[in-house]
Amino acid sequence: MLLLRRVCFLLPSPSPRAPLAKPLPLLLRPPRTLPSAARALASMAAPAAPAGGTAAMSRDAFRAAVTNTLERRLFFVPSFKIYGGVAGLYDYGPPGCAVKANVLAFWRQHFVLEEGMLEVDCPCVTPEVVLKASGHVDKFTDLMVKDEKTGNCYRADHLLKDFCKDKLEKDQTLSPEQAEEYNKILAILDDLSAEQLGAKIKEYGIVAPDTKNPLSDPYPFNLMFQTSIGPSGLSPGYMRPETAQGIFVNFKDLYYYNGNKLPFAAAQIGQAFRNEISPRQGLLRVREFTLAEIEHFVDPEDKSHPKFGDVSDLEFLMFPREDQMAGRSATRLKLGNAVSEGTVNNETLGYFIGRVYLFLTQLGIDKDRLRFRQHLPNEMAHYAADCWDAEIECSYGWIECVGIADRSAYDLRAHSDKSGEKLEAHEKFAEPREVEKLVITPSKKELGLAFKGNQRMVLEALEAMGETEALDMKATLESKGEVEFKVCTLGKDVTIKKSMVSINIEKKKEHQRKFTPSVIEPSFGIGRIIYCLFEHCFYQRPGKAEDEQLNVFGFPPLVAPIKCTVFPLVKLEKFEVVAKKISKALTAAGISHIIDMTGNTIGKRYARTDELGVPLAITVDNTTSVTVRDRDSKDQIRVEVDEVASVVKEVMDGQSTWADIMWRYPTHTASAAEDEAEP
Ligand code: AMP
Repeated sequence: MLLLRRVCFLLPSPSPRAPLAKPLPLLLRPPRTLPSAARALASMAAPAAPAGGTAAMSRDAFRAAVTNTLERRLFFVPSFKIYGGVAGLYDYGPPGCAVKANVLAFWRQHFVLEEGMLEVDCPCVTPEVVLKASGHVDKFTDLMVKDEKTGNCYRADHLLKDFCKDKLEKDQTLSPEQAEEYNKILAILDDLSAEQLGAKIKEYGIVAPDTKNPLSDPYPFNLMFQTSIGPSGLSPGYMRPETAQGIFVNFKDLYYYNGNKLPFAAAQIGQAFRNEISPRQGLLRVREFTLAEIEHFVDPEDKSHPKFGDVSDLEFLMFPREDQMAGRSATRLKLGNAVSEGTVNNETLGYFIGRVYLFLTQLGIDKDRLRFRQHLPNEMAHYAADCWDAEIECSYGWIECVGIADRSAYDLRAHSDKSGEKLEAHEKFAEPREVEKLVITPSKKELGLAFKGNQRMVLEALEAMGETEALDMKATLESKGEVEFKVCTLGKDVTIKKSMVSINIEKKKEHQRKFTPSVIEPSFGIGRIIYCLFEHCFYQRPGKAEDEQLNVFGFPPLVAPIKCTVFPLVKLEKFEVVAKKISKALTAAGISHIIDMTGNTIGKRYARTDELGVPLAITVDNTTSVTVRDRDSKDQIRVEVDEVASVVKEVMDGQSTWADIMWRYPTHTASAAEDEAEP
């Protein structure tokens, strides 16, 4: 459980949450682009959707097949492997880097370019004062327990969660009451305090999983990596746990750069560092990861969005908090209705939810395994107006991959207070406006005489009064001459006399309105999105040998690490010359490709590139025309050598689909040897 990330002050707990709706069954389906025959074969891997009675593959077996392929083909590998590796640190290899670069390029196109966002690139090393102001130094913690003998550390909520899940899944003797209790704990896990977690761990006799030794009481562990800036050791700093703060502290300059106009958005892609207590789930929970964040600054009095109409007709799985609390499942809602009925707080937040949906589905995330879940009241920071997580279902369950939050004016205010720099926007009026303003003027002298050392606390509390409270005080002072007043920072009531404060409504002419903008923040965990994409695109199909399964990543062209391969059918110089000519044309067209001159059987070469998710393969079997094969359907067409690069480009750029191309060119019938082979 992450306590108060970015200072999420928890409100006093209302009634305990009803159990969360059961997660949807995991559907390990092939990509939607596959022809029906391939889909039927690939759905053999789907535990919840077995095809024609075929034995289903378990989640664990499916995950093992995916990660095995990913690591073997160097999409990613544990970092520092020759030294035994370090939990929560991974390297992306060549195809992984290419997929990541494609995802980030599309992110820039879909968000930065489309909205004219201001991109920045700030340092990872951050001075303490910045993260003190944002609340990270004090509150960016998870609750940890230690093995009392070995000192091994565990996340307290993970241990309790594993215990409850294990009981629910494996304990045949569980009574309905016990099952209800474990389900309830799973639902309220994020709300449990250190004391409550500790009490449950004791009550259930939970011990260290590796050694069975007793555990310490839970205590908060700050997730930031601490460092010091410069050799003196006097300037503490941290590796940033998110990129957002770099944007907030630059607000004034960015606002000026934007012509002092709102709304505008700034964006940043960069590394974030979190010293996770016990990282698990591969790329999903790591200690260093790429975040892509947007901070959209908007007038708090006008959160409409001019382009909301572009996304308002989208319909997808949404999981409002009422449905979660009532134990219902996510349902398909029309985004326009969700905003107009108030389920989503405002149009700008709704606009970004819609844009995130389009981004993820265009990347290749299965829309039926993507939902937008609203934060429950206790999950949300007290200052936040509304928060939704884009959750993607994979073999680990529903995973938060993008957080989309209306954080109101909290962050800019926090940095204004700490730095003394006013991070504000202003709206100039065409004509000066006469406004009535509440003016509270405490008398320092009177307060000093009455409250001595506490004078400042009383004065600040008086100045911070809202309009209603101030007017009530004025009325009481006028009728009774004194009033009891609660000063939170003193933790008690004090008596305020008429001479200590004057409260008036004054008429003033104003030429502009000054305000702290609200911020709407979509925050993308790029590694999580990529891992879910890997799972959603992966499928297997039978190979030539009995029981053999060939692995395929059915990436859409947009994310495929390599767009095309070029093979001479047999090792002949005249074919190699043609292959090199095609390679040159592909390079000139900007198409990433590989030439394979190894002389392996063509079937083997196809199988190897299918595993890398290469959408098209060109086989040179002639000096004037060549064959082009589609990865998923395995259909082949014959194309003139001089035309082939532009045909590949057409499909890769999305101007034509493979089906369109099939109409235009003669099909080529593959030989059995070409069709199937071991990798
Ligand atoms: P947060 O600031 O905690 O809301 O995180 C923003 C996004 O970062 C989340 O939606 C995740 O996609 C991603 N994320 C958070 N923690 C991790 C982690 N330890 N490893 C990988 N991705 C993470």
